[in-house]
Amino acid sequence: MVVIRAPHGERSRRIKVLKSRRGPLEIVLLTLAWVSFFVPLVWVVTPVPAFANYPLRPLPFMIGVLCTALGLWLFQRSHADLGPNWSITLEVRERHELVTQGVYRHIRHPMYAALFLYAVGQALVLPNWVAGPSYLVAFLLLFALRLGPEERMMVEQFGRDYEAYRTRTKRLIPGVW
Ligand code: SAH
Repeated sequence: MVVIRAPHGERSRRIKVLKSRRGPLEIVLLTLAWVSFFVPLVWVVTPVPAFANYPLRPLPFMIGVLCTALGLWLFQRSHADLGPNWSITLEVRERHELVTQGVYRHIRHPMYAALFLYAVGQALVLPNWVAGPSYLVAFLLLFALRLGPEERMMVEQFGRDYEAYRTRTKRLIPGVW
């Protein structure tokens, strides 16, 4: 994920931000997501979270690998489709365009769907009650608190175009929700 995102992070630093909604809550949520993303590394290199280990079973492991692979694929696709309109936080950039094509044609939040798949995959693949679900917990918090403000910002920016896009698409699961 870090490798997929790196060139987009690099490019977004060069595009001027016109509107930012990065308040204190957003900073706390992003920090939490970053810390929890690296908790599995702590589990790998130190014995600290070992008290929460449990035996690994093949079926959840295989489902987890599939979720992670699908999540990585969707993460790459959504970055490619969002292009220069991507931001790590809630921002409108110079020459921001509403993207409704590619994976955005089916759902409004494919990148969050990708993060969700990755987080579920990680929870199933790592046999530890702390390291496994750490990112899933942080992601669900970020998702629940960010979705409303993000869509409101998009309506402010793109008006009827976003409203029309919203009526013909679902949030995360095509045709369902
Ligand atoms: N929620 C989207 C995008 C995540 S990146 C997803 O899950 O795929 C967050 C930034 O993307 C926001 O700051 C917003 O400016 C931008 N954004 C979200 N949806 C967009 C869209 N359909 N077109 C262009 N920019 C969008």
